Amino acid sequence: MNFLEERIVKDGIVKEGNVLKVDSFLNHQMDVELLDKIGEEFHRRFAGKEVTKVLTIEASGIAIAYATARYFGVPMVFAKKAKSINIDGDMYTAEVESFTHKNKNQVIVSKKFLSSEDKVLIVDDFLANGCALQGLISITEAAGASVAGIGIVIEKGFQYGGRSIRNLGYQLESLAIVESMDAATKTIVFREQMA
Ligand code: 5GP
Repeated sequence: MNFLEERIVKDGIVKEGNVLKVDSFLNHQMDVELLDKIGEEFHRRFAGKEVTKVLTIEASGIAIAYATARYFGVPMVFAKKAKSINIDGDMYTAEVESFTHKNKNQVIVSKKFLSSEDKVLIVDDFLANGCALQGLISITEAAGASVAGIGIVIEKGFQYGGRSIRNLGYQLESLAIVESMDAATKTIVFREQMA
C-alpha cells in the first residue's frame, strides 16, 4: 500500500451510497504534510510534462492544487461555483453536477487566468462519475489551452468516471483507486498499481 492508501485504511470512513469520508485529513481538517506528499507525488508522476498551470474546482480541490503547484513552480487556478447572475462574457463556464450534493452548479474561470498558451494539469480530490473533470476539461478547451494531464487523489474505480476519462486519451493518474468498499463490513479494496 502507498502512503495514501495506508491513510485511507486508517482514517477513511465508508458511508452508505458509495461515499468515502476523508474529512479528518483531506476534505475538512487537512493534514498539510500529507498534502505536501500528494503534491510531490503528482510532480513525480507528471515529470515529463510541461505544465504552466494547475487547475481545480472549489472547495476541496484547492489545497491539493496549491500543494501541486508549489512543486511545479506555477500558479494554480480554481473554478468557482457561481450564481448565474454573476456570469458575463469574461468567464469560461461549465455546468457540473455534484456527486455528493446531487445538485448542479455553474462553475466559472475568468478568461484572464487561462489562455491558449497554457498547458494545464487538472487535479481534484475524488473521481466518481467524472462530471467535475468533464467541466474542468471543457473550460480548458474553451480557453484553447491543452490538458497536460489529470491527477486525482482518490478514484472510485467502481464508478465510470475513470474509464470514460482514460478512453478520451488523457493521462489520468490516481494516487489511490478504490476497487470496492463496503459500509457494513468497513472494508476497502484498492486496485493494484505500479509504484
Ligand atoms: P464526479 O464529478 O467525478 O462524479 O465526483 C467528483 C466530485 O464529487 C469530487 O469533486 C468530490 O468533491 C465529490 N465526491 C465524489 N465522490 C466522493 C466521495 O466518495 N467522498 C467525498 N468526500 N467526495 C466525493
